[in-house]
Amino acid sequence: MKRYTSLSQIRKEISEGALTVPSLVNGYLEAIASQKHLNAMLEVFEEEAIARAKEVQEKIQNGTAGKLAGMVISIKDNICYKHHKVSASSKILEGFESIYSSTVVERLLAEDAIIIGRTNCDEFAMGASNENSAFGPVKNALDTNRVSGGSSGGAAVSVQSGMCLAALGSDTGGSIRQPASFCGVVGFKPTYGRVSRWGLIAYASSFDIIGPLTQSIEDTQLLMEVIGGPDENDATASVKPLEPFVVNQSSGKKRIAYFKETIEAEGIEPDVKQSALNLIAKLKEMGHEVEPVSFPYLDLMIPVYYTLTTAEASSNLGRFAGMHYGYRSKNARDLETTVRKSRSEGFGTEVKRRIMLGTFVLSSGYYDAYYSKAQKVRRVVTDFTKELFNQYDFILSPTSPNVAFEFGAKAENPIAMYLADIFTVHANIFGGPAVSIPYGADSAGLPIGMQFTANTFEDSNLLAFVKTL
Ligand code: GLN
Repeated sequence: MKRYTSLSQIRKEISEGALTVPSLVNGYLEAIASQKHLNAMLEVFEEEAIARAKEVQEKIQNGTAGKLAGMVISIKDNICYKHHKVSASSKILEGFESIYSSTVVERLLAEDAIIIGRTNCDEFAMGASNENSAFGPVKNALDTNRVSGGSSGGAAVSVQSGMCLAALGSDTGGSIRQPASFCGVVGFKPTYGRVSRWGLIAYASSFDIIGPLTQSIEDTQLLMEVIGGPDENDATASVKPLEPFVVNQSSGKKRIAYFKETIEAEGIEPDVKQSALNLIAKLKEMGHEVEPVSFPYLDLMIPVYYTLTTAEASSNLGRFAGMHYGYRSKNARDLETTVRKSRSEGFGTEVKRRIMLGTFVLSSGYYDAYYSKAQKVRRVVTDFTKELFNQYDFILSPTSPNVAFEFGAKAENPIAMYLADIFTVHANIFGGPAVSIPYGADSAGLPIGMQFTANTFEDSNLLAFVKTL
């Protein structure tokens, strides 16, 4: 099938009679079937997608179609969809079917999107390479010896390899942006609270957000307009009315800061650095003001992020106890063995590591030294960042210090893996929006991503700006 990179292309062909929604869905189903080796999809909603394609085609013909008619989209395996399985790529949710739909799924369906399947990810969204899935790693379609990035690896590859037009992922510390950068697609993490978390399996509730992975900024804008906004089911969803995304046009000279430390960072790959320098030169040529700024807290990003997210995860994951739903150990005999054995057998190594770390930083005696300290640093970083946004519109950095790495390169070393998030966790720590756009490639042709971050609730302005690049 021909490769489409935006919904407007698809809609144009449909209106000209050159394409129908059923043939489009068939094309995507074929792409999924012929690329099973990538392991991007855990389940394909084939029959349903075919049935919905017919309905949507009729709606288009009758003039009653929603904004997303013709959009074929995948959802990450931590986003609930009523009467569909959801597992967070964990054995502990084996056999579990969702009894309600997340707000984002309801909003997609209300606008006639077609959900084609659920995508593989790191277990409970914990990881940066998709090597932590109970269902095996996801391969990067550009080089199958390399990782997809994570944790929304299946989401990124589903878009990269043409299995669907767009995907929804989740981002707690970079899980949308980093795989987007490794796979050469656009990944957007909205402001915390701009998209409802109702029906998203929680990892770290004060960091988690759902967002789109696409092949064009215009599709990201469109999806934000559909999935964003207040939601009475989620008290942490902002009550601020959603700003218009699609019509927003960026104009005028912008002030852009880049953190010296991110571009001069030790360990940044030379091709990534070069791409950042090229982008800075281009921005200046376009008439924008671009200035280096010192970011004194870079070394604190990873410790703060991992202290707070593991603490929240240790609490959130307490509900998976082999009692109410999901996996129960065959060796369970009584209350204690049910909980202990179900959790020991059901969770993978990385999830267990984080539950233990989180329990430790919250334990009496260590609470003040770790958890409270990290909360204070989060506040200091937030204040510093907000202050910076009084002077600048956006902050630029590479999305990741490196391109997609080979399988196993960091899997044995959790610290090396955690450092993969060094540039992305900042946005989750202070809560603002950040987007990764493909910008250049290394000498082997592997995609490089550049990240722009903006102040909270500047989502629409941020996307309108990157659209001009
Ligand atoms: N790689 C980070 C982690 O392992 C980010 C994950 C995410 O954003 N869900 O926590």
